[in-house]
Amino acid sequence: MTIQFYDARRRRKAPFEPLHPGEARLYTCGPTVYKDAHIGNLRTYIFEDLLRRTLKFFGLKVVQVMNLTDIDDKTIRQSHASGVALKTLTAPIIERFFRDLKLLNIERAEIYPAATDHIPEIIALIERLLAKGYAYQAENNVYFSVERFPEYGQLSGMNLQALARGVRIDADEYEDKENFRDFALWKGWTQEDGDVAWDSPFGRGRPGWHIECSAMSMKYLGEEFDIHTGGVDNIFPHHENEIAQSVAATGKSFVRYWLHSAHLLVNGEKMSKSLGNQWTLSDLLERGLSPRAIRYLLLSGHYRQQLNFTFEAVQAAGAALQRLDTLHQAASTAEGDGPARDSVRRIIETARNKFSAALADDLNISEALAALFDLVAEAHRIRREMPLNRAEGFALQNFWHYVDRVIGALITDEVEIPTEIEQLVHNRMRLRTDRKYAEADAIRQELAGKGYQIDDTNQGSVIIWAKGRKLVNIPH
Ligand SMILES: [Zn+2]
Repeated sequence: MTIQFYDARRRRKAPFEPLHPGEARLYTCGPTVYKDAHIGNLRTYIFEDLLRRTLKFFGLKVVQVMNLTDIDDKTIRQSHASGVALKTLTAPIIERFFRDLKLLNIERAEIYPAATDHIPEIIALIERLLAKGYAYQAENNVYFSVERFPEYGQLSGMNLQALARGVRIDADEYEDKENFRDFALWKGWTQEDGDVAWDSPFGRGRPGWHIECSAMSMKYLGEEFDIHTGGVDNIFPHHENEIAQSVAATGKSFVRYWLHSAHLLVNGEKMSKSLGNQWTLSDLLERGLSPRAIRYLLLSGHYRQQLNFTFEAVQAAGAALQRLDTLHQAASTAEGDGPARDSVRRIIETARNKFSAALADDLNISEALAALFDLVAEAHRIRREMPLNRAEGFALQNFWHYVDRVIGALITDEVEIPTEIEQLVHNRMRLRTDRKYAEADAIRQELAGKGYQIDDTNQGSVIIWAKGRKLVNIPH
């Protein structure tokens, strides 16, 4: 199936063609770790999780990098004001960030680089830009010269004339820039920085935020890679500046697809400090909301559309999950022998096709979920004619596992399987791949003797059952 994404630079949907066949390389701008992520940030991380899971769903190997911005004006100011070392300040925030991801069932990225661990790479990139004449040093600062990069503004649609009319690229108020549009690559040490400083060929100081992402993305993903994401507020200036720095340094295109999630509103209003609606996950859990329902709500709207977060909407998400759970429950307790009815097979097949087609169309999750709810309605209609038998229940559960690889909120009662059992299952899968069916069957018998039953799915994965209860879906 052809996957297509809306690429913000081209301003249209384009078929996804990864640079390396079978693999998707993805950079997602991560948190600035001076305070806990709010639900607006979390919406972006859930959109990125959907993207990641969808790429895997379509059989791609994903390499995702998410940076931890631990050097930035806010972290430094806080560190200096509180007299706490930068790493000491950011460590608990990073820990809570990972806890939030876990609670929301957001899959871990492959790499979480922190800016503080990549100063040499950042310095090397700045040196390349200086050598090529795209950057200049003024006092202890190094700036990127926007004028020397005529393609500036292609992503955001900001042209240099508009900028000349007074739109600022950077909030920095440095007096020594040649041009107010230029942005800092390296910021010379000032008293406010306290002990947050590194030696460099340009003097003691620290990197600007934008260069951190260019240096770390190219280090782990290559000078050219597939997808870069963030929230819409990252487009300008952050992503625009990342493009300028990276393309200027390498002469390559940097990123092939730019994806951004829309704003999250809270009770119909923009999030802001003054409105006090920048809720963190902890705030919401303290008010009794379930992380599962929060995940479902943040996931369920199309990522390019604004989403309105309200407590009622979380409750509605919980009710939607309950409708899905009811059928899942009926499927897992189905009894009786006999083959699955054609009608059951048909509704699953239809839902399967619609679900994957919707995801392939720029992650249209609302449409994918609609296909799931159509299936629920149809399945209940069929149940009313005659209760589900075991084969039908199994087919439905299997489908639940299939869609939950993307939704990540449906299956909650999985039990850990012993390593020994898992090993046997994997051995059997390998034997089957090698067409050694007799030996594979012997392992199936052995597992049955230990109380575990396994079923092969037509996606090449297996589901393990113990005492009639489903345990886990093991991908091939
Ligand atoms: Zn970034």
